[in-house]
Amino acid sequence: MTRILLWYRRDLRLHDHEPLATAIAQSADLIPLYCFDPRAFGQTAFGFPKTGAFRAQFLLESVAELRAQWQARGSNLLVRWGKPEVIILELVETQSIDAVYGAAEVTSEETRVERKLTKALGTVPLRLFELTTLIHPTDLPWAIAEIPGLFTRFRKTVEQNWQIRPLQPTPQILPSLPPDLDPGQLPTWERLNLTPPPRDDRGVLPFHGGEAASLDRLHQYFWERDRLRSYKETRNGMLGVDYSAKFSPWLALGCLSPRYIYTQVRTYEAERVANDSTYWLIFELLWRDYFRFIAQQGGDRLFKPEGLQGIKLPWQQAQPQFERWCQGQTGYPLVDANMRELEATGFISNRGRQNVASFLTKNLGIDWRMGAEWFEYLLIDYDVCSNYGNWNYTAGVGNDARGFRYFNILKQSQIYDLQGDYVRHWLPELAALPPHLVHQPWRLNREEQTRYQVRLGVDYPQPMVDFFKSVKHYEAIYNKAVEASSK
Ligand SMILES: Cc1cc2nc3c(=O)[nH]c(=O)nc-3n(C[C@H](O)[C@H](O)[C@H](O)COP(=O)(O)OP(=O)(O)OC[C@H]3O[C@@H](n4cnc5c(N)ncnc54)[C@H](O)[C@@H]3O)c2cc1C
Repeated sequence: MTRILLWYRRDLRLHDHEPLATAIAQSADLIPLYCFDPRAFGQTAFGFPKTGAFRAQFLLESVAELRAQWQARGSNLLVRWGKPEVIILELVETQSIDAVYGAAEVTSEETRVERKLTKALGTVPLRLFELTTLIHPTDLPWAIAEIPGLFTRFRKTVEQNWQIRPLQPTPQILPSLPPDLDPGQLPTWERLNLTPPPRDDRGVLPFHGGEAASLDRLHQYFWERDRLRSYKETRNGMLGVDYSAKFSPWLALGCLSPRYIYTQVRTYEAERVANDSTYWLIFELLWRDYFRFIAQQGGDRLFKPEGLQGIKLPWQQAQPQFERWCQGQTGYPLVDANMRELEATGFISNRGRQNVASFLTKNLGIDWRMGAEWFEYLLIDYDVCSNYGNWNYTAGVGNDARGFRYFNILKQSQIYDLQGDYVRHWLPELAALPPHLVHQPWRLNREEQTRYQVRLGVDYPQPMVDFFKSVKHYEAIYNKAVEASSK
């Protein structure tokens, strides 16, 4: 009988899992493995932990849940601490493995591991499957290198000829492990060099890792609470459980398949309603696909300061200013509330991410990679392609970036947090301020500072930059750099 090692990476599920379904169709003996790679717990280039405690916890929960699913079906998941290229080779040699199946990745750190593993395995084949995107890359009307540089062109062409592959079956029984094989333990917090994160009840959702929790979240959001029908109207919110789908942490670890979401949307459309909102959720999943495809297309340019577009800007790495941004002490309440939520919970809304990223790059002129690494450290839904792709885009160096576009923080506050509820939720020092002052505390006169007990510069900082002066300053720099790079 063929014996296959199933190498789990960011595909921590049983449903819609092509390598698993393929191995089962071959009636193979199966050894599933998850490796905690010490390199993922090292440091980023700017010295932040590469994986923070929130994401580590979500990962531990997801792997534990995957193990429980394998156990419930008569098998078990092997768990190891070490480099996959070393651990897998060892297993191949000791367990007479004929082939290794896994999920393909597209960015350099991950593909480097794939190359090392292929080399180590020699004649034992490593077969990698594309599991991450809604549209299978080989079903695209272009080769990856030819994908349009504008999302709208990509989307319109793709939508003309939808091809979403059907779901793979979920196995009910799995072949048992060889009896002499030690399943191994999940790493301790000590081993990860982290401490468990505190749970902050102010967070949008008590996110719990794993396939079961992801399917439950979808069921709740679509079917129990019927929120999909109004997704487009609510998705720009910042406060509460249901303003958006909150699928991203599970998608990032592959606990949830985008094709499963797609089929559920189609069922919802048939049984409840098909409207702009149901379309818009698929539209957002296409953005996710797009960021992955252009990351693959652009290679390591995605991580360079000049980005995919190659615009050379004099980014600054001013530490004190950067720290004020990280700690939510900029003096702009919308920015500060989001940065504090991020640090306290590991999650913020898309609206929040856009605003804080714009402020860092368009008002402070700080190297966008520092912001991207701060997100990488903290976000529970950190995904290399979506994170670095969105940062490229917001910093104005991505391939779909349209000139110097910035978010007017005050205007955004008034549109998306008119009453100031979000800001008050995260900035207790501003909790007493009425709506007309909560987004611009710098307007408080002496008497109001006493009345509301907010001493500017003591209880809450003065704005660290003049909003429009700083925008104008960086706009001029940006335009000059674009001109220089187009010569
Ligand atoms: C600077 C910046 C950094 C980001 N970093 C990440 C990241 O590391 N990981 C990540 O998953 N998303 C990232 N995003 C995209 C987006 O903010 C999150 O996907 C979204 O907020 C997750 O919440 P949700 O699942 O409720 O989204 P919903 O609004 O419910 O959207 C549904 C799904 O569509 C996808 N999606 C939505 N918007 C985007 C987008 N702009 N780019 C890519 N996919 C999208 C996500 O998979 C999301 O789960 C980033 C955005 C910005 C501006």
